[in-house]
Amino acid sequence: MARLSDPITILKGIGPTKAKQFAALNIFTLEDLICHFPRAYEDRTKLIPIEKLEPDVPACFKAMVMNAPRTSHIRKGLDITKVQVADHTARLTLTFFNQKYTAEQLQYGREYIFYGAVSGDFIGYNMASPVFESLDSPPLTTRRVLPVYPLTAGLSNASVLKAVQQALAICDPPVEILPEEVRQEYGILPAEQAYYAIHQPSSMEEAELAKKRLIFEEFFVFSAGLSLIRAARATKTVSPYEKLDLSAFYDALPFTLTGAQNRAIEEIATDLSRGTPMNRLVQGDVGSGKTMVAAAAAYLAVQNSQQAALMAPTEILAEQHFHGLIKLLSPLGIRVSLLTGSLTPKQKKLLREQIAAHETDLIIGTHALLTDSTAFARLGLVIADEQHRFGVAQRSALTDKGVNTHLLVMSATPIPRTLALLMYGDLDVSILDELPPGREPVDTFLVNESYRTRLNGFIRKQVAEGHQCFVVCPAVEENEMLNLKAAEVWAETLQKTVFPDLRVSLLHGQMKAAEKEAIMGDFAAGKADVLVATTVIEVGVDVPNATLMVIEDADRFGLSQLHQLRGRVGRGKAKSYCILVSHNKNPDTQQRMKALCQTTDGFRIAEEDLRLRGPGDFFGSRQSGLPVFRVANLSYDLQTLKDAQQASAQWINRSGTAQTPEAEALRCRIGQLFLRSQNTMN
Ligand code: ADP
Ligand code: MG
Repeated sequence: MARLSDPITILKGIGPTKAKQFAALNIFTLEDLICHFPRAYEDRTKLIPIEKLEPDVPACFKAMVMNAPRTSHIRKGLDITKVQVADHTARLTLTFFNQKYTAEQLQYGREYIFYGAVSGDFIGYNMASPVFESLDSPPLTTRRVLPVYPLTAGLSNASVLKAVQQALAICDPPVEILPEEVRQEYGILPAEQAYYAIHQPSSMEEAELAKKRLIFEEFFVFSAGLSLIRAARATKTVSPYEKLDLSAFYDALPFTLTGAQNRAIEEIATDLSRGTPMNRLVQGDVGSGKTMVAAAAAYLAVQNSQQAALMAPTEILAEQHFHGLIKLLSPLGIRVSLLTGSLTPKQKKLLREQIAAHETDLIIGTHALLTDSTAFARLGLVIADEQHRFGVAQRSALTDKGVNTHLLVMSATPIPRTLALLMYGDLDVSILDELPPGREPVDTFLVNESYRTRLNGFIRKQVAEGHQCFVVCPAVEENEMLNLKAAEVWAETLQKTVFPDLRVSLLHGQMKAAEKEAIMGDFAAGKADVLVATTVIEVGVDVPNATLMVIEDADRFGLSQLHQLRGRVGRGKAKSYCILVSHNKNPDTQQRMKALCQTTDGFRIAEEDLRLRGPGDFFGSRQSGLPVFRVANLSYDLQTLKDAQQASAQWINRSGTAQTPEAEALRCRIGQLFLRSQNTMN
């Protein structure tokens, strides 16, 4: 017997070259191989009479060879072999291209099982290059449900299939980690059966059951992991905040808070008054006013003699927060400082000394705040802004740093509730589902290429009125095949031929961070009229003067992403617009983008995105910050996900500390999952 941890090179037929190809799929060990799940199946179990074969639909059929295969040499590099076959319903001509030796194995007068599709565009029946097996050979490519694996260059489905089957034959699949009672209750296959069935199912139904089991398992492990993190945190103690009076803070605000902001602040105040560290996510659409919620939390921390750290993903955002918050909080006696890379070493040293001596209360910076050598005198609250790209593992690293600090995470990505539970299951969630009053929604239009001239005119008009425009393109480099407007090329075209008199600048993800920030900073300062960018601008920079967002090839983006992009405008007093440019006529695609034109409610859009694309894609598109789900690329239903969450919650409550082998194995898997996530995210 081999072990799961053995390298795949112990398998027959896998030498250094093949191993390299498998490595491209992240497959190194037998376990990796066994966990390389098919992405689809072809049902080749049913035999269909030739007469009933439908054009272009591949199917299996049994037929007798009616003549000896004949090969014609057409020209250099092209041989065509033809052979007639028949069953009791019809005759069929098979054509093989450059497969002389394969085709000539077909023997006159014998029966074979074939798998292929009749072509729709010939008179009479014709089929190109079917696969076939004789009746007495084992069913490898016909008479079975054939798994279709994710592949990579040079690696055929057949070689993956062969390797997986070999692996399953010489070692046991991963051990059972799901408790018996859970499997019973949710109708879940045992592990061993599932691992065999996912790779060699006897029917499509069995493949479905196997898939369900593995998906359930992965989500169960993940949810259980989150519950354990939560439970571990609940054992930590902090001294409860006693001064919870916010009236001075409210009085200092230039506006009344929304109901949602008030609710979130109350929830935070309640968390802070308990003796355990807060772990809260504030989720709210762009512009819903998360910063004020953060400010209230910081105010409470400072009232209770603690320091607070506010971390933004970029220096520009940090600066923005600093300027906003110092204006609001310093009249209240709170000392606010900004720690960024642009300080001189001397300034930095001085500021660090102040932080260590508790001569400043609220320190704003980037994530480097917690990773560098900054020592806080009394860090009581960590606030992380725009952290939808943050994973569970990184979050725990954050709070492990401070001594039992409170943690407040703010995210502008609306996530449907079910998924939020999964992604943020280790956090309590406050939702800001209300925009401050008087905000005019961004008008959104879907247009095609025929509007180009009008669109250019519209951009010009916005600029003439003193406003600025974003133009977002899907990719950085020109892709002729897809005819996408790569940002670089598009920026050049706009500058040289369309708007030679305007200031067009370019921002893309392959630029260095400093360069990006400089360009973004210049745009925010009004030094450019049109900013052509890839999606790097998705994360929240505030340019209230920008009133137009043009998204080229909008169909290439997910709904939630489009919504995020749209959120870059409509932040000032002037009316703002979002123009989706697409020539994709696919009705589903059109429906998707029209949904965006009809609503500006991020949560509704997220729900719609989830409904249209399924959770697999939803996760896929924001994979970073999430654990690496092996099954996430299998399609699955939300019900399985909900079941797994419920089951894990029940199980943790009932027997989370059980000493059974399954419970041990489960805990071990949880550790692996979170470790794996952390490694791939760093
Ligand atoms: P978010 O971070 O959620 O995208 P911000 O906190 O940046 O949103 O707030 C967006 C804008 O709305 C800011 O200019 C802020 O001052 C303003 N704002 C926040 N709350 C309110 C409110 N209750 N009433 C009016 N304006 C508000
Ligand atoms: Mg914000």
